[in-house]
Amino acid sequence: MRSGAEYLRSLNDGRRVFVDGERVKDVTTHPAFREAAKSVANLYDIAADPAQRERMTFRSPKTGQPVWRAWQIPRSHADLRARRLFSEAWAEATFGLMGRSPDHVAGFFTGYAAVPALFATAGQKFADNLVAFYEFMRDNHIYASYAIVPPQIDRSKPAHKQSDPTLYAGVVKERDDGIVVTGAQQVATGGVLSDWIHLSCIHPLQPGDENYANCLAVPVNAPGVTLIPRRPFALHADNAFDYPLSSRFDESDSYVIFDNVLVPWEHVFIYRNLELTRDQWFKTPSHSLGNHQAQVRYVTKLRFMMGLAQRTIEMIGSGGLPPVQIAMGELAALVSIYEGMLLAHETAAPIKDGVLWPSVITLYAAMAMQSEFNGRMLETVRELVSSSVISQPSSVADFANPEVAPLIERYMRSGTMDAKSRTALIRLLWDFLGTEFGSRHQQYEKFYGGAPSIVKQNVYRNFDFKRATALVDQALNLPGLK
Ligand SMILES: Cc1cc2nc3c(=O)[nH]c(=O)nc-3n(C[C@H](O)[C@H](O)[C@H](O)COP(=O)(O)OP(=O)(O)OC[C@H]3O[C@@H](n4cnc5c(N)ncnc54)[C@H](O)[C@@H]3O)c2cc1C
Repeated sequence: MRSGAEYLRSLNDGRRVFVDGERVKDVTTHPAFREAAKSVANLYDIAADPAQRERMTFRSPKTGQPVWRAWQIPRSHADLRARRLFSEAWAEATFGLMGRSPDHVAGFFTGYAAVPALFATAGQKFADNLVAFYEFMRDNHIYASYAIVPPQIDRSKPAHKQSDPTLYAGVVKERDDGIVVTGAQQVATGGVLSDWIHLSCIHPLQPGDENYANCLAVPVNAPGVTLIPRRPFALHADNAFDYPLSSRFDESDSYVIFDNVLVPWEHVFIYRNLELTRDQWFKTPSHSLGNHQAQVRYVTKLRFMMGLAQRTIEMIGSGGLPPVQIAMGELAALVSIYEGMLLAHETAAPIKDGVLWPSVITLYAAMAMQSEFNGRMLETVRELVSSSVISQPSSVADFANPEVAPLIERYMRSGTMDAKSRTALIRLLWDFLGTEFGSRHQQYEKFYGGAPSIVKQNVYRNFDFKRATALVDQALNLPGLK
């Protein structure tokens, strides 16, 4: 197994990442990424722990060695449950706050590898490349991030009609040894912390866009790859007490630029093929397996949110009030719906040609409403915790000032907590809810699986309207209705 320390060592590989006007020398020592990298390293150690072998690993069919369950092609409902327990262990270690942990993209490649025949329709070599790369990632415990959305340069025009056709990431040259890719892609969450970037396109492409219709993988440190992360929250999280989450779990989101990047043929799985670029997501279980992890992670985060709300009302002493209990009950109902949908995602899953496909209707239904329900739940938490998130000392340093510390300790406690424990809880809650880190999370839950309007269309496409309309037809045939 690859240990956390080995993972961290491998990240110092010359990758081009720019922050605050400077090139980052080593992401594992730079304050913007150091602690998040350690959080990912912790996931490696959890997976490598011999005591967790059964829960976290299965035997690689190729090497016989233990590999992450995130790479296991589910053949039965028990296999999918095992994938859930794997991802749940990782999600609990990060409180569901690192959405693109290595099991996310692993789910996509596992879904591809479950149906290599799809890739073979463009030539057997593409399927062979795909399976070989999947096995390489599985057997070497690789962390891949992905950039599958084109940049928002001008959404009114297709990729090939942009003012410069090499603005969007696409192939610009074909060579005997591979293809050359140039252009940008909108986001790779976790890009700076990952080993490889998976480049493809999930947004609709149209005839003329063939150069952008690819599926391939590139090492993050490949010559010509540049990552431009958004403002890293950890940089301004000056201490772990006041920013307990921003300081540890900011997985980062990067704009990705490819400048004449050579991609050897062996790492190309779809090449200039509009149909396959579309079908890879939905005619394999890739989208549903990758987003199975996303829902496991989300449910864990919701439980954490419930815990934060409960501890805060206990601290305030408002838990006995009927309106507070009703609000908490509504929150718990929504969280329970998500827990139930996750189980339905597993149990309503069909087996096709020996591969279990997680149920898409339950997945897309949960994802479609996430953008609304998530905001609603956070609003409720804000109402419940009221000004508690504001009544707090300016930083942990105030506890060390002999002039003000006794006042804080006397007056800023609660009926159940001393002032420092109360402040620690409030900082945790505020970092979840209101800091820049908390705010980015709200944007993440709205968009991580695509724009909500698009996800709702996925629900529309997959709902069993035949069964619904049959009931109407049956009613229309009742005596007296003709
Ligand atoms: C925090 C965060 C992390 C992310 N991480 C990743 C990642 O790791 N990898 C990755 O590839 N992507 C990632 N994304 C990008 C995400 O996949 C996209 O945000 C999502 O697919 C929507 O695309 P867009 O942002 O380009 O919005 P656009 O497609 O430009 O849409 C903008 C708005 O227009 C509306 N709209 C656009 N087209 C239509 C249409 N046809 N019908 C109806 N409405 C439409 C949308 O509803 C949306 O409100 C991330 C996004 C966020 C916010």
